[in-house]
Amino acid sequence: MNLKWKIGDCTITRIREIEYPEFSDVIPAATPDVVKQVPWLFPHFVTPEGALSLSIHMLVIETPNNKLVVDTCIGNERDRNPFEVMHMLQTSFMDDFKAAGFKTEEIDYVLCTHLHLDHVGWNTYKKDGKWVPTFPNASYLWGKGDQEFWGNLPKDSGEDFIDIQNRVWADSIQPILDAGLAKPIDGPGDVCTNVRLIPTPGHTPGHCSVLIESKGETAMITGDFIHHPIQFWDAGLVSPFDVDNDAAVATRRRVFKEYADTPTLIIGTHFAGPTAGRLVRDGDTYKFDV
Ligand SMILES: [Zn+2]
Repeated sequence: MNLKWKIGDCTITRIREIEYPEFSDVIPAATPDVVKQVPWLFPHFVTPEGALSLSIHMLVIETPNNKLVVDTCIGNERDRNPFEVMHMLQTSFMDDFKAAGFKTEEIDYVLCTHLHLDHVGWNTYKKDGKWVPTFPNASYLWGKGDQEFWGNLPKDSGEDFIDIQNRVWADSIQPILDAGLAKPIDGPGDVCTNVRLIPTPGHTPGHCSVLIESKGETAMITGDFIHHPIQFWDAGLVSPFDVDNDAAVATRRRVFKEYADTPTLIIGTHFAGPTAGRLVRDGDTYKFDV
């Protein structure tokens, strides 16, 4: 189901690629016993048994002047062995994108919050056996720090995740660089009227989040500085997928403090269920109000 939110004159649409009802590996310390201490996570964000649910979706931003997509999911036909849950997917994602009324040629900007496999897949698609840009008229923006980090991984490291990310680079990033569409960015900056990027490093070195501002209203698309709403309750719950756990924790604490009890709509890049809500203080912690 596509969800939509209005922020002033802008519209944000969620197009889902896949939902994993149980993906607790993303935060191993969030066991069912821990989850059960946080009643507001039920029923949207966890299973009745206390497993963490995770959604993989793209967010399409329509401003009065531009169309942008944020994070391009996993993609079809990708060799992600041995990461079976994301290996060789065959979903109807691009048909769903088109059925929602969007055209790939009309996208002006592709924003990748970071360059992990589940955020860059549909940067490209396979045409006549070759990976080519899905959004031929777009500028593709991502953090310079991510480009430097993921573009210079050791080859044949013997580590599964590094080997996968090298394949991600080859099929989802290099074709964009070759086409001259990549615009790596350094630090905070405006993408276009109504949309800007803010650095939220830790999960990856060049990780960015996206702010949408119009007519006094604001939304933030998180990216993966937070994977799951349980991290609002305890910012210290870390993910093995973070490049730098300590920096990720520091980013969460800083951002939560800044946005708690404000009208900003927080849209989670991996949040299941309603995906968006407001962050509110709850004693000495926070909760997500949907
Ligand atoms: Zn992710």
